[in-house]
Amino acid sequence: MSCPFLREARARSCQAAPLRKLIVEGRTDTSGEKCSSAGHQQCSIFVEQRAISEDPGRCPFLHESLMQYCAAQSVPKMVPYSESQLGKCGSDSFEYCETYLQMAHPNGSHAADEWQVEGIPVPSKLYYTANHMWIDTHESGACHIGIDGFLARLIGRLDGVNFATQRGVNRPSAVLNLHGADWPLVFPNQVLISSANLYLRGNPARLAADPYGSGYLFEGWEPPSGSPSRHGLMHGRQAIHWIRQEVSRLSEFVQQCASRRGTGLDSTLCDGGTCVPGLLDHLTRDEMFRLLHEFFDPHAAWPAQ
Ligand code: SF4
Repeated sequence: MSCPFLREARARSCQAAPLRKLIVEGRTDTSGEKCSSAGHQQCSIFVEQRAISEDPGRCPFLHESLMQYCAAQSVPKMVPYSESQLGKCGSDSFEYCETYLQMAHPNGSHAADEWQVEGIPVPSKLYYTANHMWIDTHESGACHIGIDGFLARLIGRLDGVNFATQRGVNRPSAVLNLHGADWPLVFPNQVLISSANLYLRGNPARLAADPYGSGYLFEGWEPPSGSPSRHGLMHGRQAIHWIRQEVSRLSEFVQQCASRRGTGLDSTLCDGGTCVPGLLDHLTRDEMFRLLHEFFDPHAAWPAQ
C-alpha cells in the first residue's frame, strides 16, 4: 500500500538545456511554453543545437516522464517513479513517516483500533515482547520495531538513545540513557535490520512522546531464514490482559518501594491506582534499576498463565 499523500504527475524537461528544469503538468504555468508547438523552432537552445525536427509541432529535445511527489509537503520534491517505489512513500512504511503522521494524526492518536489500558495505548495490530517492545509487520515483509506505551509512560528524563545494531540480520538492540545510566533494550527475535531511527539520537524525547509512530526504533524486514520475527510474541486480547497484569505488578512494586522507604511514597507515585507518568524520575537509582530488571530485562519471560 502507498502513502495517501503520494501523487503522480507527468513531467517534461529539456534534454538540451544546461540546467534541467521540470515542467510538471497541472503544477507549472505552461502558457508561454514552446516545446510542444511549432514555436520550438525559435527557441535559442534548439537553434544552438542545429537540430532538425521530424515533427514540426514538437521539439526533439522534449522529454516526458512520470514523476511522483508528496502532496503533504509545502514545497514538493519530484522523484522519478521508479525511485519512489523503493522508499517509504510507496510501501506500508509510510505509516512511520513524520510528515504523514503530522498530517494524518495531528493529535497523536494512531489508529481506530488502538485499545487503552489505564490510559496506556495498546494498538491491536502490533505484536509485543515480554520486555515491552513491539513489532509491526506488513504484508510485504517490511517491519518496524519500537517500545510500547507501558515503558513510554514510565520514562521521564531520557538523556539519550544509542543503537547497538544498525544493519544486517540481528536482534535489534538499542541503549537508553536514563538519568546517566545505560539500559539495554533487545528485541528477542532476529530481523533483517535496514536502518535505525537515528533521528532519536538528537531528539530522544520523541521515543516516549510517540512510541508507536515517529518514535519507532528500527525498520527492517523479516529475516531470510530461521524463526519469523513475531515468534513467541503476544498479540490482540492476550496483550491487553498482559498489560493489565503489568499495571497491577507495577503498583505492587511502588507499594513495596514505599514500605521500604517508610514514607507515603505510593500517594506521590500513584494517581488513582495508576502510576504517574515519568515514574522513573521519582525513584532512587537502586529502585530504578530494580524496576528496569523486573520489567524490561532483555531476558524477560512471559508470566505463567
Ligand atoms: S514523504 Fe511521507 S507523507 Fe509524503 S508521500 Fe512520502 S510517506 Fe507520504
